[in-house]
Formats: sequence, structure tokens, C-alpha cells
Amino acid sequence: MSTDTQPAWVITPPARATLPINNRSQRFPVHRVYCVGRNYAAHAVEMGHDPDREPPFFFQKNPDNVLAGADVLFPYPSASSDVHHEIELVVALASGGVDIPVEQAVDCVWGYAVGLDMTRRDLQAEAKQRGRPWEVGKAFEYSAPCSPVYAAAEIGHPAQGRVWLTVNDQLRQEGDLAQMIWKVPEIIAYLSRLFTLRPGDLIMTGTPAGVGPVQRGDVLLGGIDSIGQLRVRVS
Ligand code: MN
Repeated sequence: MSTDTQPAWVITPPARATLPINNRSQRFPVHRVYCVGRNYAAHAVEMGHDPDREPPFFFQKNPDNVLAGADVLFPYPSASSDVHHEIELVVALASGGVDIPVEQAVDCVWGYAVGLDMTRRDLQAEAKQRGRPWEVGKAFEYSAPCSPVYAAAEIGHPAQGRVWLTVNDQLRQEGDLAQMIWKVPEIIAYLSRLFTLRPGDLIMTGTPAGVGPVQRGDVLLGGIDSIGQLRVRVS
């Protein structure tokens, strides 16, 4: 059989993960999803850690863990009975590189979104205790609900703004972008010394205090006042 009749792929390539763009029909292609741990002092304290400015640390979710849209259904995941919400600023990169200077880091940003770093806290706690990787706690299906991306060309580069989350209309999390221990340009510069950043990378920048469990039927509404909102129903 002649080779030129063969399809290019031995299996159908999986679809790329994407995010909608606020007020546009175009979409944002997702490459990697980086996450920053303990980036608000009050959250570090609530998790039993020192609030001092230690070097940032990172973990990743899978690109196809992104649950895209302003109003989404989050299926309660398997293997956990303690799934927590973490409301976070998400940075969407237009460009990347290595060893990006802090002063140039903001030039890499295409826009910003509101995201949730959903966490199987029981599995994460067990991993921490046993010195095991965090993937089972962090990088599961639909673990990264994310709002449409808001273009920096339209909203600028917000360094302050209230970050909040209600569950069934009750305020659970509250903070301000100005309280971030590591600011967005510093996070980009630091990450670019560890990884080659690429267009399409997302960075979840850490959560303020007030994390807690969700239950099936809960309605989560989160926002960053200088950016936008995200509504998630737990099913
Ligand atoms: Mn987080």
C-alpha cells in the first residue's frame, strides 16, 4: 500500500485546550498551566506555614484540566471527599522565553482571567505527608475552571483589586491582588529560569485566605474587581 494514502496520525490528535476571550469570538490556545503555591501570607498561615517571603514554588496542572467559560459545571471529582476552592488571578502569556528580566516580564502577558485552583485537599495532604508529588491533589479532570481572558490591551496590568469568592452567596474568600507575596512580573521571571515559557501558557498565581470545601449543588461565584467574574456550579 502506498504510504501517501495513510493518514498523518495513527490516532486522531486530541483537541487543544482553549479559553474564550471576553467580548471576542476568537479564542486563546492553552499550552501549559503553571501554578504558584502559597502566594498570599494569610493563606500560608491558614495552611500552617510561615508567611515569610520564601522563594516561590510551583506545580502544574494539565492543559486539558481547564474548564473554560464564565458559567460552568464542575463535576465533583472521584477519589476525594474534601475538594477545596482556591480563587486565583490567572495570567495568560502571549510570548515566553527563558531568563526573562523582571522589567520585561509584563510584555509577555496577553491578558488576565479569574480562575479556580480546585484541589482534592485530602489527597494533597496525604501527598505532602508522604513526600509524594501533588498531581493527584491538583491536576485532575476539570480542576482548573477559568473565566474568559480579558485582554491587557483593554484592562491594563492590574496590580490591585479585590479577589473574592462566595459559595451559595456567602463570602468565603477575600483578599487583594496587592497582597500577593510574589507579583506577576516576578513570577514570570522566576518561572522562566526553571522552564521555557511559551505563548499560550497560563499561570495561576495563588489564592488568598479562606479556602474551604465544596459540595455537590454549591454555586461558587468568584471575581477580581479589576478583571471579571467566574460562576461555577458543583455537580
Ligand atoms: Mn492554588
